[in-house]
Amino acid sequence: MRVLLVEDEPDLGAAIKRVLNQNKYVVDWVLDGTEAWNFLDDQATQYTLAIFDWLLPGLSGLELLHRLRSQHSPLPVLMLTAKDQMEDKVAGLDAGADDYLVKPFGMAELLARLRALQRRSPQLQPQQLTVGTLILDYGTRTVCSQKTLSEKQIISLTTKEFQLLEYFMKHPNQIVTSDQIRNQLWEVNAEAISNVVAAQVRLLRRKLASFGWSNLIETLHGMGYRFNPDASK
Ligand code: CA
Repeated sequence: MRVLLVEDEPDLGAAIKRVLNQNKYVVDWVLDGTEAWNFLDDQATQYTLAIFDWLLPGLSGLELLHRLRSQHSPLPVLMLTAKDQMEDKVAGLDAGADDYLVKPFGMAELLARLRALQRRSPQLQPQQLTVGTLILDYGTRTVCSQKTLSEKQIISLTTKEFQLLEYFMKHPNQIVTSDQIRNQLWEVNAEAISNVVAAQVRLLRRKLASFGWSNLIETLHGMGYRFNPDASK
């Protein structure tokens, strides 16, 4: 994983680089905002994460952020600053910072924040989820099954169908209740109708059945649902 570190304090920059290297990150460390922009603007280099100090020679961390986000870059950015003013935090977050760390900080906290950013990073999300013979594709929002080498079924899913099937595929052969599904997939109070889960399960099941998968989602009356991946074979 490649990290761009922009920090103009030599001691702190060196300490962060050393800790990141020990934790298997590849680190490009620059001490100047303008130089940092040259690194970011270089299409050949793909970063996983960036760490920007707030006050820098050349471009400030905030200006770097503005430039990145104006180009619609999704690069996760952690801002470092000695400032502890609420308005600065708001300005940083408004400019598109993903997280914020106030100096002085411990290296353990820095590493924890970076791990959290990686988990949220769209670039690092899995592209597919495979359970049994089913392959859920995050890029195309489809599910497919390789029935035989020559025969492949691909089914397009709506957002909710996709989320629901993903939930089932992450809990194969387990009994899951309507409440568990609702708590996971619907916002609180967003859809207060009590049978929203049952209705969505019905839609998903109907779509899957039209492709010949009739028994993937089993209803266990009074208990919930059970996803049977073997039924896709
Ligand atoms: Ca600085």
